[in-house]
Amino acid sequence: MVRVSGYLRKGVSSAIRAPRKITLYMQNTQEISQESHATGSGVIHGPAVQHALLALMGRILQRGRVAHAYLFSGGGVSTRSAAAFFFARLLLCSRPQETCGLLTPCGVCIHCRKTAHGTHPDLFVCQSEEDGAIRIEHVRAIQKAVAFAPLEAERRVCLVHGCENMTPDAANSLLKLLEEPPASNHLFLTVSAVETLLPTIVSRCQILKCLSDPLTMDCFSPEEQAVLRIYPLQFWERLCAGDSEVVRGLLNLNFISVRDRFWRLMARKADISMFFQLTRELSESDAGVLCLKLLLMSVVLDIFLLKSGGDGLSLLLNQDRGQDLMAISGSISMPELEQYSERLERVEYLLERNINKALLVESMLAFWLERLSL
Ligand SMILES: [Zn+2]
Repeated sequence: MVRVSGYLRKGVSSAIRAPRKITLYMQNTQEISQESHATGSGVIHGPAVQHALLALMGRILQRGRVAHAYLFSGGGVSTRSAAAFFFARLLLCSRPQETCGLLTPCGVCIHCRKTAHGTHPDLFVCQSEEDGAIRIEHVRAIQKAVAFAPLEAERRVCLVHGCENMTPDAANSLLKLLEEPPASNHLFLTVSAVETLLPTIVSRCQILKCLSDPLTMDCFSPEEQAVLRIYPLQFWERLCAGDSEVVRGLLNLNFISVRDRFWRLMARKADISMFFQLTRELSESDAGVLCLKLLLMSVVLDIFLLKSGGDGLSLLLNQDRGQDLMAISGSISMPELEQYSERLERVEYLLERNINKALLVESMLAFWLERLSL
């Protein structure tokens, strides 16, 4: 999870979550997995937020960067479990399907059928017992399961639910397993909040943050609502991973004007003085820099989607800028885009080290202006 905290000025927000990397925001995931299984085709219907989430999971698999351990935290119990189960099915499926640029389990292969019926030998599910505790016996059972190579699939997934109720013995034992992860095995832990786990466990896992409560207008004052309505609520939900505090933070930073000016620059409808004005304004505070980062991450994510082929247009976060995005995506190669997004990931690190904010903002924006002059 990309989590930025401590930078935004008081009363603005405590956290901004960027839309890329490992923040997966889940809503009604149970419905997603049930529906995709029911249709058998793996086609996922539903709000764009779910498409963005699935696109992220698919990219993890496509890039071959599946980590040994994932931590599904936040959201409700069923949301977390469904998210973990969906990802497990995707990893075990022998021929995930790409539909509309998304990767989903096929629903018909032998692995999909067995996972759906709970009979797949390479899907190990560890559920806490009646008192809710995960004890050392449970972890021993996992250790036993992962001691051998997967039986039928290319990999094995062990789901461990309710990790917030792990006994200290079990936690230490699990830590040992995470320290020396057996090849071809993936541990998926679900937990209400990462703070309930040993930091040493958390640091060995990739965190997939689940949010279960959809953003509603009720979260905002009438004045805020009036501004928010300029864009569809779904835009804010996806941009801020459903976090109303982050939305509020962006409103206070005049996000709509920042975004508008950015796109005017991109459409060559503004002269260079706007570039300098924007740079000056955004480099006044760390929050301003992070506001820009969030905007640029959304653009990067959209271009990734466009480049991944299929009907990328309907999945874009910046729907209203589809034509501009198409135009710019042609002048950026995938390696360039990946390199740039890695630079964006380092923004908080650089701010912590007191980098010159004006130079940072200038370089973040210059990447796009250079592409325009190609
Ligand atoms: Zn399958």
